[in-house]
Amino acid sequence: MSSVPARNRRAGTPAESNSDAVPGTVLSMSAVGILIVEDDEAISAGLERVLDDQGYAVQRVDRGRQALALAEDDDLRLILLDLGLPDMDGLDVCRSLRASRPDVAILILTARDTELDVVAGLDAGADDYLVKPFRLSELLARLRAHVRRISSTEQDDHEPISAGALAVDLAARRAWEAGTELTLRPKEFDLLALLVAEAGRAVTRERIMREVWDTEWLGATKTLDTHILSIRNKLREPSVIKTLRGVGYRLDIE
Ligand code: CA
Repeated sequence: MSSVPARNRRAGTPAESNSDAVPGTVLSMSAVGILIVEDDEAISAGLERVLDDQGYAVQRVDRGRQALALAEDDDLRLILLDLGLPDMDGLDVCRSLRASRPDVAILILTARDTELDVVAGLDAGADDYLVKPFRLSELLARLRAHVRRISSTEQDDHEPISAGALAVDLAARRAWEAGTELTLRPKEFDLLALLVAEAGRAVTRERIMREVWDTEWLGATKTLDTHILSIRNKLREPSVIKTLRGVGYRLDIE
C-alpha cells in the first residue's frame, strides 16, 4: 500500500486529468494543434495551461494578423478565436482563416451574445461559438467533439460513427438506421454523415453548403432542403432531423 492515500492526491494532477484528455488515437500519434487568438492575457494564459494539460499542442497570439500568419501550420486543427481583437475585426479574421484553412475547426469565443452576433460568426465561417463567460468543461467537451469529427474525416478507418439509431461508416460510405442499411445518394450520404458527426448540435446551412457541396455560394440552397427531404423519406424516424429555421439543421439523438 502506498503511504499516500489516493483521496489525498490533488484533483487535476496529470494522472487524474487523463480521463478528459484528447484520446491518443484520434489524430495519429501527434498532439492536436490548437491556436488561441485572444488579447485578454488572463483568459489566454489560462486556456493555454488547461489545453496544454489536456495534451493539445498550444500556440497563442493576441492579434488577428498573427493568427493569419500561423494559419498555414499543417498541424493546426482547432482555432479559438476572440472577436474583439485590437488590430482587426474578429469576423474578418474568421473569414480569412476559413478561406485559407477549410479543414480546421474555428470556435468563436465572444462576449457578444446577441443572436445576430452568433449568426454573423457562423456566417463568417466559424464552426461553433461559446459566449463568455463559458464553462471550461463545456469548452473542452466541444473541442473533443471537433477533434473526433476532424479525425473521422481524416482517418481512413472503418470505425462507424453513430448517433442514436443512426450509424455511418465514412470509409465504406455506408449508413444504417437501427441496423438496417440505408440507400443514399452521394450527397445524401455526405449530408447525413455531417449531421451524425455533429449530432445534438446545430449545423448551419452555410457549413453544409461548404462541406457537402464544396461551395460558398448561397444563392440557391433549395437543393439542400430537397436532399434533407429525401433523407427523411428514407428514415423510419424522419423527425430526428430537425429544421432550425433561418439557421440550418440538427440531428437529435434523444
Ligand atoms: Ca478581446
